[in-house]
Amino acid sequence: TRLHRTGVDQLDPRVGVPTYSTADVRTGIVHLGVGGFHRSHMAVYLDDLFTLGLSRDWAVTGLGLLPQDSTMRDALLPQGCAYTVMTKSADGAVSARVVGSLVDYVFVPEQPEAAREVLTDPRTRIVSLTITEGGYHVDQNSGDLVVDEALARDLDALRTGGHPATAFGLIVDALARRRDAGTAPFTVMSCDNIQGNGALTRRAVTAFARLLDPDLAAWVDAAVAFPSSMVDRITPATTDADRTRLADELGVEDAWPVVCEPFRQWVLEDHFPTGRPLLEEVGVQLVPDVHPYELMKLRLLNAGHQAVAYLGRLSGFTYVHEVAQDPLFARFLAGFMEHEASPTLAPVPGVDLPRYREDLLARFANAHVRDTLERLCLDTSDRIPTFLLPVVRDQLASGGPLHRAALVVAAWARYAEGVGEDGAPFEVVDQRREQVMARARRARTDPLAFLEDARLFGDLRDSERFTTAYREALASLREVGARASVEAWADAG
Ligand code: NAD
Repeated sequence: TRLHRTGVDQLDPRVGVPTYSTADVRTGIVHLGVGGFHRSHMAVYLDDLFTLGLSRDWAVTGLGLLPQDSTMRDALLPQGCAYTVMTKSADGAVSARVVGSLVDYVFVPEQPEAAREVLTDPRTRIVSLTITEGGYHVDQNSGDLVVDEALARDLDALRTGGHPATAFGLIVDALARRRDAGTAPFTVMSCDNIQGNGALTRRAVTAFARLLDPDLAAWVDAAVAFPSSMVDRITPATTDADRTRLADELGVEDAWPVVCEPFRQWVLEDHFPTGRPLLEEVGVQLVPDVHPYELMKLRLLNAGHQAVAYLGRLSGFTYVHEVAQDPLFARFLAGFMEHEASPTLAPVPGVDLPRYREDLLARFANAHVRDTLERLCLDTSDRIPTFLLPVVRDQLASGGPLHRAALVVAAWARYAEGVGEDGAPFEVVDQRREQVMARARRARTDPLAFLEDARLFGDLRDSERFTTAYREALASLREVGARASVEAWADAG
């Protein structure tokens, strides 16, 4: 029988289950973008907290904004919003627990009024987000809000009393209504992998509000808190094999379980004027300044993933662990992290960096997580500019090494041709797919054409030092292929 919140007592005793019922907790957080990561990360911390009997007025109502989120609604609602987290250790052990901190799910395209209701409810004191980098409508280089079609539609909707559809539309609509009703604003907590996610969200949300009403924007800027966070837990997309394994081995029939590694980390800026759950009780680091931690994570973990994703796929690998277990790629990756990424970091209080890097290599090598290179290659236009190019810019400024990073950018140019080294075509998934692929094709005869898009590369195209390294790398990729290039570049500089 299908998993349900009320029937968890009957599950196999090896499966952890909530020790509290839905009636024991109440929504205090509305989360936008209930995907794999929210369910493996924040929801698990909250589940731990509720299990301790603490902060039970901080349960989560999830909001799905995109048309495809109807799938998540159809998975969650028939289960009373309970779902299973499968944690896969490097030794192959799998542990499963049912998480109960998510108590309701609203599919916004069909229930806009319900979404508005929960967002304006005074008991909702935090609105959190994992809407992917692309959900922020921000130019990666300037940090400015980009008013695309979706945002323009929402501006119209808000001006005419209609229902918004985007994250910013929903947030600004609810904040305006709360202000008018004399309700305190909620805190907006971005948990996406974006450097300075709090400040960036503040800037984008207030810029959006300003287009509607400058007074509202000034109030948002003054009254709403946007704490930054560094979040970490590798959470690959769930596969049918995961569902089957959960059903066969543990008898849990879950329409959409989550799969993740054992490691988890959450460093959070402690700025919550309208209150917050007691997250420090369950291992969250609450700090005055998240910046050094997020820099460390974005430039080692996320940029590290990018460093092997395209080169790995071009070399014929499928999984992250295959690349991380390959001594040559592991050496390249370790070199990138130590010589190129680490020197650009600020001192990170309480963290042993060499140890952090070693742990990362071990986490990447966990064969049971089965994270795919394909996942890391999605939406590169959001990832390389966010994770890798800041390393390049810092190294340009300091005169430090950047050869490996240049090879990675060249590998993107090669990858975006959409054809592997074996001649087989593959799908390039990217919001800017057409432009990126067109430039990649032109780069066959004019290598710098790939760097032309200033929204992605800023002025890197004008850097003699970077373009020399990039051209050399692209030429090598074409002449000898990805693996031999990695070999040649592994010990560079
Ligand atoms: P996912 O594909 O499982 O879920 C993505 C969610 O974001 C979905 O609910 C989707 O509807 C929503 N979304 C996407 N674009 C949106 C938009 N334009 N507007 C509103 N909602 C939108 O992905 P995930 O693994 O949950 O990752 C989501 C984000 O979490 C990542 O982009 C990253 O910033 C962060 N994160 C992920 C991991 C990980 O290992 N998966 C680790 C750390 C941080």
